[in-house]
Amino acid sequence: MSKTFKIAALAGDGIGPEVMREAIKVLRAVEKKFALSFQITEAPVGWAGIDAAGKALPDATLALCQQSDAILFGSVGLPDRDPTIPKEQRPERAALLRIRKEFGLFANLRPVQLPKALAHSCPLRPERQGDGIDILVVRELTGGMYFGQPKKTEEIPGGHRAIDTMVYTTPEIERIAHVAFKAARLRRKKLCSIDKANVLENGVLWRDVVTRIGKDYADVTLEHMFVDNGAMQLMLRPTQFDVMLCENMFGDILSDEAAALAGSLGMLPSASLGTTSGERTFGFFEPAGGTAPDIAGKNLANPIAQILSTALMLRYSFGLNDAAAAIETAVAKAIAQGLRTGDIYTPADPTAKKVGTREMGDAIAAAV
Ligand code: NAD
Repeated sequence: MSKTFKIAALAGDGIGPEVMREAIKVLRAVEKKFALSFQITEAPVGWAGIDAAGKALPDATLALCQQSDAILFGSVGLPDRDPTIPKEQRPERAALLRIRKEFGLFANLRPVQLPKALAHSCPLRPERQGDGIDILVVRELTGGMYFGQPKKTEEIPGGHRAIDTMVYTTPEIERIAHVAFKAARLRRKKLCSIDKANVLENGVLWRDVVTRIGKDYADVTLEHMFVDNGAMQLMLRPTQFDVMLCENMFGDILSDEAAALAGSLGMLPSASLGTTSGERTFGFFEPAGGTAPDIAGKNLANPIAQILSTALMLRYSFGLNDAAAAIETAVAKAIAQGLRTGDIYTPADPTAKKVGTREMGDAIAAAV
């Protein structure tokens, strides 16, 4: 009998429910093909949570997440409703940040893929895109400058002084390095660790620890790069990168820079991972974009980011590499067939066929 994987599906607001529906459709196709068993339970979050139970993260939704092996998330927040309630009750803070903290999600994985067929979506000239761009940014999510203490603004004669503190400990660097090396093993086995070891104490420690952990992964080629050069190389020769490992702030910036290479937010999934117990790693999987209220409810949203988030869930939380690859191959097939939602469509491509959210999901599920 196959194992059952428990998935909490929290669609959220805006385009969330539409793209989640397509992702579940694809998961059901994978379940059938690979004789797996997914127990998918849907629950409200964000404004859907506030409307149903008075809170952006209702107690029942949180309890469901705690009983699940992974959270598949849509997105939350509505710009016209958010300002009507206090900041700490707003969906992004009360649901998203709360979940990150509750589940100790310390590793953020953002794959950026630009298939050759979508070369037009990339702001770089074709000769810089090689055979297509395929980068995984691994970002440390709970340490560094965003959380280090002291963190304050104090008055001084003539104005103010703002203090942020960058702090990393050896164990924090070790655990994110292991995530990055393991991810590189599942890819092209190249890891570029980003730091600022020429200026920051943190950079020196980061480089030392990553180098030491790298000895456990002799099959992965490790290189180090200063963050300023990393930002430049992403624009000049993005095809040199496989996995980029970054501390929190550098990863925040470089993952967005890398994301711009793919052209549309609608194509970009992301994973946030917590600790591993046995064969499973608790994880939170969501599209990189938001609730896109401008196109919500019109069958216009690109479901690929949500669908690729399910592939990340299968790979990184459940260790189902073949099933994850089947989803990625199915997405590539739909793109190769010329299917395009509005965000990736160009009339300049005579083979492109404009489709809606549902049609894209149907095609990907059928390709699985
Ligand atoms: P957004 O990502 O929702 O939209 C930015 C642009 O990208 C829009 O033009 C939108 O139509 C487009 N887009 C995004 N996803 C798309 C998809 N799948 N297919 C096609 N086009 C897509 O960002 P925003 O407009 O700044 O934010 C809207 C709301 O989403 C806000 O309330 C914000 O707080 C929230 N938000 C939530 C998350 C999250 O839940 N993780 C992340 C970002 C923004």
